[in-house]
Amino acid sequence: MAVPKRKVSPSRRNMRRAHDSLQSTAHNECSNCGELKRPHHVCASCGQYDGRDVVEASA
Ligand SMILES: [Zn+2]
Repeated sequence: MAVPKRKVSPSRRNMRRAHDSLQSTAHNECSNCGELKRPHHVCASCGQYDGRDVVEASA
């Protein structure tokens, strides 16, 4: 049976996996102002959701 010459230590293995959970967040263009926003969330720049003004624009 083939045996690996060197075994990756649990520390090395875990250091390699440290970044595995990093994910890029989803984003969509706002239909009102074109700014990137998260889907199903109020737009951060113009405060609109589903074509309606929901919150006051911050700027
Ligand atoms: Zn917007």
